[in-house]
Amino acid sequence: PMEDIDAAMDDLMDAVESTWGFRTLRESQEEAMRATLAGRDVLVLMPTGGGKSLCYQAPALVRPGLTLVVSPLIALMKDQLDGLLANGVRAAMISSALESDERSAVNAALERRELDILFCSPERLSSESFIDRIGRAGLTAIAVDEAHCISHWGHDFRPDYRQIGALRDQRPDIPVIALTATATPRVREDIEAELRLNDPVRVVGGFDRPNLTYRVLPRLDLVDQAMALIGRYPNQAGIIYCIRRKDTESLARDLARKGVRAMPYHAGLGSHERSSVQEAFLNEGIDVVVATVAFGMGIDRPDVRFVIHASLPKGVEQYSQETGRAGRDGLPSECLLLYSGSDFQGWKGIMERSAQEAELEGVEGAMEELGGSLTRLSELWNFANGGICRHKYLVEYFGGRYAEPQHEDQERRGCGACDVCLGELKVVKDSQRVAQMILSCIVRCDQRYGAAHITEVLRGADTARIRAKGHEKLSTYGLMKGFPTSEIRAWIDQLVAQGHVGVASGNYPTLHLTQSGVAVMKAESEVTLLLPLTPKKAPSSRR
Ligand code: ADP
Ligand code: ZN
Repeated sequence: PMEDIDAAMDDLMDAVESTWGFRTLRESQEEAMRATLAGRDVLVLMPTGGGKSLCYQAPALVRPGLTLVVSPLIALMKDQLDGLLANGVRAAMISSALESDERSAVNAALERRELDILFCSPERLSSESFIDRIGRAGLTAIAVDEAHCISHWGHDFRPDYRQIGALRDQRPDIPVIALTATATPRVREDIEAELRLNDPVRVVGGFDRPNLTYRVLPRLDLVDQAMALIGRYPNQAGIIYCIRRKDTESLARDLARKGVRAMPYHAGLGSHERSSVQEAFLNEGIDVVVATVAFGMGIDRPDVRFVIHASLPKGVEQYSQETGRAGRDGLPSECLLLYSGSDFQGWKGIMERSAQEAELEGVEGAMEELGGSLTRLSELWNFANGGICRHKYLVEYFGGRYAEPQHEDQERRGCGACDVCLGELKVVKDSQRVAQMILSCIVRCDQRYGAAHITEVLRGADTARIRAKGHEKLSTYGLMKGFPTSEIRAWIDQLVAQGHVGVASGNYPTLHLTQSGVAVMKAESEVTLLLPLTPKKAPSSRR
């Protein structure tokens, strides 16, 4: 009943305040905790920094019995555990890394029912004696951290996570709370099915990070562009993400030469070196970490003022997770994505090669995976090039509905915190007419051609394909003579990103008008196109 839950929530708030010192819960945290206390299965989708851990840790303190937390990485568990122990929580962790005397101590504590929270890796769940032991210890809830690891559609598939489903079948009475920052609809469905979630309460929260300002620029001179941003935050914390290990090292060196306290971080470093960089960053011994994707899991420095992407990451999820490490303290912070078309081509090549290799080795579904990877890559391309408010794009990507903040100042538009809404990008003056020329050319070509061909027809190019199809006779042939190919292509990308043009993939991708595209063509609705971000002149990089 509601009153019981209200009472339990009061106890919970007392525990939250005395244990963590927080006086309020975030809206989605409260929603998740109420559902948990009511004994429901819950799926929590929140970005990194959204406050997921509290969603299962706080209820564990007020609920009788033991909460088992399944987590993919020992380092991650250890961080969480250290934090809890420091706050006086009765918690422990069981892992293969434990010495046998440590393990007996944990087992004894379980036997005496002294624990509220026990962390374990998914492999533990294959041990029957372990399942018996936690049963006897009064197991009352299961939390599954990084739940996307259960899905092979996610990016960190861990087959052992499937064991949780088996535990679930044995103990259907125990409610589950699954948490993740990355869940596309397909991953979400997988999580729910594999964990056998029973009519779960889905909590999607906090995907907008209003204190982050997003900007996207073409990469001209990486060091200069990075310095221009770093220079605005002297002696403050920042993370720069690179794709390649050697780039982290050379960029860190270049920044150090300019007086920035920067160090590289990647998985190729020894574990000792890695933890010393992490520690230096956490203890403010250095300001900037230049890292690959390897840096992140478990990094909890709340005052990161900026995150720079030195090139295009693989997809929106990764981008959002990495930029999510900025501004966890809620203070204004900046995210800058620097990219070029070659980043896109580079990833595409890598993805295609690895799919081909997998295919040759007889891996089933390799080509399907490739389709997924390419889709994720082009979604990020749309984010970068689409001319849509960055906050809106990100929120909607994760299935949220974006509500613009109310501005008292009439001049301010949109989110007020991205390059698009701040008017930093150049709008094409006669956007509507340009869009109409492109849309009508797609229609004239029977909506059966891709962007490259449409662009050539519009430019009035003389290609064999155009002559073979008789497209030089179309009224739209040569309509955009004099416009550079790169601009026309960019506008087509923008029309796709804005949903006016759809892409159908058969043997090769073809373009067609959507309903909103038809409305734009008939001038029933307005469209804004942006001048593409071409590297003409370098932005000022004076410090
Ligand atoms: P996630 O696991 O979703 O990445 P965390 O659980 O690590 O996020 O929380 C992110 C940050 O937010 C942490 O520094 C945490 O202390 C802080 N935090 C979480 N919940 C609250 C709250 N209700 N009030 C204030 N700070 C909070
Ligand atoms: Zn915006």
